[in-house]
Amino acid sequence: MRNRISKILLLFLFFTTSSIVAQDNIDEFLKNQPIIDVHIHITKGYSDNEDYNAINPDIDIAKIEWMRQRFDQNNIVLALGGGPMKYAKLWQQLDKRHWSGPRLPCNPLREQDEPCESELPNLKELDSLFKNGIFKYLGETSFNSMGIHPADERFNPYWELAEKYQIPIGFHADAGPFKRNMEETPNWNEEYGNPLLLLPVLEKYPKLKIYLMHYPGKYFNECLEVMKKYKQIYCEITAVSMFAPKERWEPRVKKLYEEGLGDRLMFGSDYVGTIRKNIEIIYNIDWLSDEQKRNIYYNNAAKFLNLTESEIKKHHKMVE
Ligand SMILES: [Zn+2]
Repeated sequence: MRNRISKILLLFLFFTTSSIVAQDNIDEFLKNQPIIDVHIHITKGYSDNEDYNAINPDIDIAKIEWMRQRFDQNNIVLALGGGPMKYAKLWQQLDKRHWSGPRLPCNPLREQDEPCESELPNLKELDSLFKNGIFKYLGETSFNSMGIHPADERFNPYWELAEKYQIPIGFHADAGPFKRNMEETPNWNEEYGNPLLLLPVLEKYPKLKIYLMHYPGKYFNECLEVMKKYKQIYCEITAVSMFAPKERWEPRVKKLYEEGLGDRLMFGSDYVGTIRKNIEIIYNIDWLSDEQKRNIYYNNAAKFLNLTESEIKKHHKMVE
């Protein structure tokens, strides 16, 4: 009996120390490593959220403050994220690390999109926000959850603007999420997350700077096809890499590298509060070289976003 207990104790000690060692290794690796998070969601603050509801009496500000802390703790120097116009403006105003923009289209039935005054933002206003550098992002697209075809003509003027100002667009390229509120999304059609449906759009606007979100999901082959066809199309592996079994998604990430597209993989977190978790997911892909990991954390996105030398220098200074 005593023997068994000490065995269990030893096993316990082994796992806790090895996990501490692993955490130390990541922390060491991340020293002075700037990270670009290409997938966050801008929303109102939720007063029942105990992570941040004590930070500020204004719950919207409290959430922004809490995000600021998450960014500071995880070396996030820039974050791409979309949401309601109101909050996209506010977030970038209070923390310049946010490259914000409108969710496309926003959903008047969905709490996360509140306030969604009109599904498509006012074109004139958006033009001026892009032109003045206040907004620097478009997305995440919600074609699948809204049941709207990505090549629907209503979006043409938005693609035109995005192409003109070289605005990065986050395209939701998966069938999920699988836990959904049907009252908020009665027209859900997962087929509209298929990136092949973007081909007619790209034919018309061949310089659109799109990245495919949730790469290793249902449409991973279609993602590869679109990326091979257009050099400026990048991707990320959020949500799928966090929720699906590793044996399912990891070979698909390997395939991305085998196809010579690994230098277009970027880091993202998607789910609020999961930045560290997603950093670990990348770090724990053991066949990636250190250089490849650093490229995912920062360099690939820097290239995708055409960051200048001085911006890159500034980002490295921010995490010294
Ligand atoms: Zn998504």
